[in-house]
Amino acid sequence: MTSQETPVASVDVTLLDELQAIAEPAELVRQVFRRFGPRAAIGTSGQLTGSVLVDMASRAGVPFRVFAVDTLRLHPETYEIWQRLEKRYGIQIERYRPDPARLDAMVRQHGEFLFFDSKPKQELCCNVRKVEPHEVALATLDAWIAGLRRDQSEGRKATARLEIIERADHRILKVCPLADWNEAQVRAYIQKQDVPYNRLFDPLPHGARYASLGCAICTTPVLPHESHRAGRWRWFNTQPDDKKECGIHLRPKKL
Ligand code: SF4
Repeated sequence: MTSQETPVASVDVTLLDELQAIAEPAELVRQVFRRFGPRAAIGTSGQLTGSVLVDMASRAGVPFRVFAVDTLRLHPETYEIWQRLEKRYGIQIERYRPDPARLDAMVRQHGEFLFFDSKPKQELCCNVRKVEPHEVALATLDAWIAGLRRDQSEGRKATARLEIIERADHRILKVCPLADWNEAQVRAYIQKQDVPYNRLFDPLPHGARYASLGCAICTTPVLPHESHRAGRWRWFNTQPDDKKECGIHLRPKKL
């Protein structure tokens, strides 16, 4: 698709209403790429929903972009799934990494393991390693497709399928096609369509499993009685789940 052929949709309430009427996640993904072309992309951190969205986009028969934030601290299995998705679908996942100077300054001032010290330092680390590179990715987009689901945590129960993010320079449509799905539906789709998925999501002994993924050192599996996000930054588990976000999904503003 050339830039002259690129469809450019306006990110406004009219578009929001049009897309709200599309109930089927795969059709929603198709319509977003059809309307926004290369100004739309799926963001994935290697979670199960990212694999499902890439598969849906591939089946939609339209060109699509996929991006990922590489914090330089991810599990080997996460780097592996990105490669497997690239091979299976013939795509190149765009990697956005932390700014080396910002990273170096942070580590020199606070140490490699600052996230153990306090919530503000964890938030600083997430900001430098995740949020800032993610902002660079968002600057290239008018539509961002994310894999958030309402069943992932208390804080995500209000996740909208569609919302508008007001940035300083432009608006972005944030689309969460799988917001209504639960984990069983995601796993059933992956099994039925034989979609490559992150091996970390295979079952572990004693009913433990990874339900959410971040950097390797900050992510642990959860037990059956625990919430999806209990395995993230476990040392902060006296805080509610909605305080346990890296920041990427915290700023959207609904019209
Ligand atoms: S998940 Fe942990 S290591 Fe990764 S950016 Fe956040 S605090 Fe830093």
